[in-house]
Amino acid sequence: MRVGVLGAGQLGQMLALAGRSLGVDFRFLAPDAGSPASNLAEQVVADYENTAALEHFAEGLDVVTYEFESVPVSSVEFLAERIPVYPPPRALETAQDRLYEKQFFRKLGIPTPDFAAVGFITELRDVLTRIGAPAVLKTRRLGYDGKGQYVLRNASEIEKAWVHVGGVPLILEKFVDFSRELSIIAVRSIEGDFRFYPLVENHHSEGILRLSVAPAPSVSEALQSRAEDYARRIMNELDYVGVLAVELFQRGDELLANEMAPRVHNSGHWTIEGASTSQFENHLRAITGMPLGNTDPTGAAGMLNVIGTIPDLARIQHHPDAYVHMYGKQPAPRRKLGHVTVLAADMQGVRNSVADLGRLLSKSSR
Ligand code: AMP
Repeated sequence: MRVGVLGAGQLGQMLALAGRSLGVDFRFLAPDAGSPASNLAEQVVADYENTAALEHFAEGLDVVTYEFESVPVSSVEFLAERIPVYPPPRALETAQDRLYEKQFFRKLGIPTPDFAAVGFITELRDVLTRIGAPAVLKTRRLGYDGKGQYVLRNASEIEKAWVHVGGVPLILEKFVDFSRELSIIAVRSIEGDFRFYPLVENHHSEGILRLSVAPAPSVSEALQSRAEDYARRIMNELDYVGVLAVELFQRGDELLANEMAPRVHNSGHWTIEGASTSQFENHLRAITGMPLGNTDPTGAAGMLNVIGTIPDLARIQHHPDAYVHMYGKQPAPRRKLGHVTVLAADMQGVRNSVADLGRLLSKSSR
């Protein structure tokens, strides 16, 4: 099996590592040479819109997938006319626009924060009055890791918010006073079989994921099945194949969908060591037509992202239950450079290790 991947970042790197033991070969396409996945497999260095390069990339591939969410839908459709592309292009198209995505959730009966489209500053005033402050103003496209967002505490901040994110199509969402953030990672095969990982609890700061713990503590069977039901509805509607992540806000017993990612997801990295089959392996199994693997967790896990600066890795490696993954990227503010997973018999053990590692991660090696 030869899998083509659009994008060659850390998600591609971890797909390639998982694919080795499945006997899968890879070819990547991404505009920058020297991306994290580039030393693990052949890489076509070209822009995503370059059709000659896309044709060359597609030669001899069995299936194409993507690990970068902003790849142009037209390029994915161009490839889909030649070879199977999973997840289907419509999943990507829906996930790329926060307005379509929330309308799609609503159509499927999946609760979301109250929202409305905003095109002009004059419209923003009316929409804010209707939705009510506080509210989050977001760009519909190309926002990630908290970029392209502004929290409006009251109407006096409208001009400031507009300067911050305006000039492009926007969505205004009610600010949700959630008790916590969760995500569900699901996988669907070509035949329509499903597997779900246990809900993950996610901690963000400045819009960036810092810590995930899994299985999320205090999750009732009802809450887990509700999250699975939402993911199942999305995947059935899209005739989805591969791994999907759905980010959720928990408020009491309610789950509100924030967004979906039609790809392997940062909040699923713990599955490499913490589950019987990793999200990367299950994505590859799904898109290549292999049976899906067991998603049971092996115990409790915590995953800390390494962001901005490279920590003292040797000290972290001394920790007996820590697994370090570095992506080979140059340090830069807010950039995800790697992650560390810790395993323990229970959540208290994870909390203790996360506290130790959190201290080590905040100490840069340079
Ligand atoms: P996003 O880019 O939509 O995933 O947002 C990044 C982070 O901003 C989320 O993980 C939340 O912590 C926060 N956030 C986004 N939307 C809302 C909302 N409607 N209410 C409260 N917090 C939000």
